[in-house]
Amino acid sequence: MIGLVIGAGVVLAIACVFMWWLSSRSSSGKAVKVKAAPHSLASNNDILQAVSDGIVTLDAKGNITMLNTAAGYLTGWEPADAIGIDHALVFKLCDAKGNPYDATTNPFSQLLQDRKPHRDDNTTLVTKGSERHLSVSLSASPLISENGQLTGAVGILRDVSEERKSERQRAEFISTASHEMRTPLASIEGYLALAMNNRVSSIDEKAKGYLTKAHEATQHLGSLFQDLLTSAKAEDGRLINHPEVIEMGGFLTRLSEDLRFVAQKKNLAVEFVVGVSGANMNAQPEIGSVRVVQPLYYVYADPERLREVITNLFDNAVKYTPSGKISLGLTGDDNVVQMYVKDTGQGIAAEDVPHLFQKFYRIDNSDTRQIGGTGLGLFICRKIVELYNGRIWVESQPAKGSTFFINLPRLSRDHATQLGPQITKPDNQAPQPTASE
Ligand code: ADP
Repeated sequence: MIGLVIGAGVVLAIACVFMWWLSSRSSSGKAVKVKAAPHSLASNNDILQAVSDGIVTLDAKGNITMLNTAAGYLTGWEPADAIGIDHALVFKLCDAKGNPYDATTNPFSQLLQDRKPHRDDNTTLVTKGSERHLSVSLSASPLISENGQLTGAVGILRDVSEERKSERQRAEFISTASHEMRTPLASIEGYLALAMNNRVSSIDEKAKGYLTKAHEATQHLGSLFQDLLTSAKAEDGRLINHPEVIEMGGFLTRLSEDLRFVAQKKNLAVEFVVGVSGANMNAQPEIGSVRVVQPLYYVYADPERLREVITNLFDNAVKYTPSGKISLGLTGDDNVVQMYVKDTGQGIAAEDVPHLFQKFYRIDNSDTRQIGGTGLGLFICRKIVELYNGRIWVESQPAKGSTFFINLPRLSRDHATQLGPQITKPDNQAPQPTASE
């Protein structure tokens, strides 16, 4: 009886999935030929076999119970041969660098653990015999019986190799074009600077005004080309990346010293807080006779890339804060190091928040229209943070301010020592154990 209910549930779920698929397909203008009447089980199977996307079902242990013809073609397996075999043997998934997925990254394994839908648009499927490497988008959903039991999973795979190829070509074009255009631009900028230099040329004040505007515009164009180049590299994995162990307390202390000048030009106060808000990183607080040891937060990343991210967030905070304070913060727990840049500026409306980290997204209102920018900074920040398996997000209230957070995996001191040798630590300060160690 239970078997019947589960079986009916699975058929129903598959039917729902392909009905969804059918509607998304027909909206994209592609017709599907259905042989039998739409409500019979035979027709459901016909449709499953006819669709050009791969569809697979698994039981609760992760073994394959159904593979449609397209999934067979994508994986290189005969559908009948794949029945009863573990999904990971048939669907060999890896990341863009060719690292095989494990139980923590494979969408099917994750789903069987947490019973939630998982989607991965950037995975590579290695076909049987490693003959082909296909870029696929995979969406996996749990199958739950009426009494709430996980009975298995259904997955839909779409071959996106052509889309990825054209994305790569587009990124290559942007990167070559912006690289080539930077050279003549640099010489225009140089000549404009010479023309405005009293010791080299003599021009009247009016001409100097025009040249100053031209000089600013070339600088803006230069930063746009630079951002385009960086974002194209970030998209196709060509960002220069030399990760090393970084002690974030020392790193942010030094960085905040450099950044403070930008804020001071606009009369904005700057503070660097660690752990409890308001605590000074450089102070060694005393509680009674007990000396509180400041935890050392180690991460494994390229310092130049991290500097780029924090500087970008800090520059934005300065740009979008007319008055008040900018706080650079560091905190964390055993597993995570958290950095944040908080401002008391104009804030961000809730409807803009989900789009902020997309390419070229700029908020268009009377406050931001006067402020220059490319809309690429936060996109680049996200790409860099994701490179180190981190997360970046923002919390904001219009007219009150915004806080941009970055979470990076924390390295234990032992792990940091193993990964050494170069530990970027606070100047003249030996590493100390963390409070939790
Ligand atoms: P931009 O070069 O335009 O600053 P970003 O990608 O860095 O590009 O930021 C995207 C948009 O997010 C900005 O145009 C701005 O509207 C908004 N934004 C970013 N940081 C802040 C901030 N600290 N406060 C308010 N708005 C911000």
